[in-house]
Amino acid sequence: MSKKTTAYTTIDFEKSGKQIGFVDIPHSPHEDAWGRTRIPLAVIANGRGPTVILQGGNHGDEYEGPIVLGELVRELTPEKIQGRLIILPAINSPAVSAGRRTSPVDGLNLNRTFPGDHNGTITQQISAYINDVIYPQADAFVDLHSGGSSLHIMPSAIIEPAPTPEARRRNIEAVLAFNAPLTVVVDNNGESRTASAASVRAGLVTVGTELGGGGTVSPEAVEICRQGVHNVLAHFGVLPPRPVAPRNENRRILGIPGPEGFVIAPQAGVFEPLVQAGSWVHAGQLAGRIHYLTNPGQPPTDLFFDADGLLYGRRQPGRVEPGNCCLVVANEYKGKLQ
Ligand SMILES: [Zn+2]
Repeated sequence: MSKKTTAYTTIDFEKSGKQIGFVDIPHSPHEDAWGRTRIPLAVIANGRGPTVILQGGNHGDEYEGPIVLGELVRELTPEKIQGRLIILPAINSPAVSAGRRTSPVDGLNLNRTFPGDHNGTITQQISAYINDVIYPQADAFVDLHSGGSSLHIMPSAIIEPAPTPEARRRNIEAVLAFNAPLTVVVDNNGESRTASAASVRAGLVTVGTELGGGGTVSPEAVEICRQGVHNVLAHFGVLPPRPVAPRNENRRILGIPGPEGFVIAPQAGVFEPLVQAGSWVHAGQLAGRIHYLTNPGQPPTDLFFDADGLLYGRRQPGRVEPGNCCLVVANEYKGKLQ
């Protein structure tokens, strides 16, 4: 375990049974000189088997993962599992409490701070703790995301790209075992500062999700998350094997093709989408319009798709500023799958 962190937990990662507690990170703001930022943590361990990290609340406005992981913390008993679960249902707890993507403490997006910094801000200290203390203890990492306040995303399990055929094979098998309606490779344009990218670097089998969003809770997405977490834990051998329902759609693996997969607002205004999420679209097709409500003499600006594929994500708020992501298209993944 790293000596550098000042974070502290009373939970013994080596102990059998079920422990529910916190990781405390010292925090000294104006109103609490010697206080702590508390991150909920549960460890459930029984016998021999793999260690799987289950994480929710990486972004504080994505609710399905934290709901399902809370259920697991309350309901799962050690004798039901084989191995060890490290459950972090609200890893970015300040952001979860605020219902925001980014931390209200330092303004940072936890998922752009890896590998973190033990001497940095609270968010950087959280990512450093995951990277240096949690990852080295584990075999697999499941990071449960949704679209957040600004995006609706079709419920899907996410493959993080990996550098070797063996790592790719293990990740793809685990993500397909989640058995979401869609499976999508998301590389965030090669972004290396995410929890999933850091987990792959640490050699862990890595599974992601995008389960709806729009800043609300979808009961359908919660159920997909609940079933998927059980499916993936059965895949790892932590829970007993379970009969897997037929997939809702085919086992095709999609990807976001690059910049052409995104429809970006060129002007400030109000975005009107003209295509339903889940529709198949083609390059050149009218995607939506930007309206100028306080300037009725100005006609709306038409926006067009730049790629063929499935309309995978859609902006939730109507208001847009230049550069905002309005629509996301996914299509056949062209990168390495073997
Ligand atoms: Zn997220």
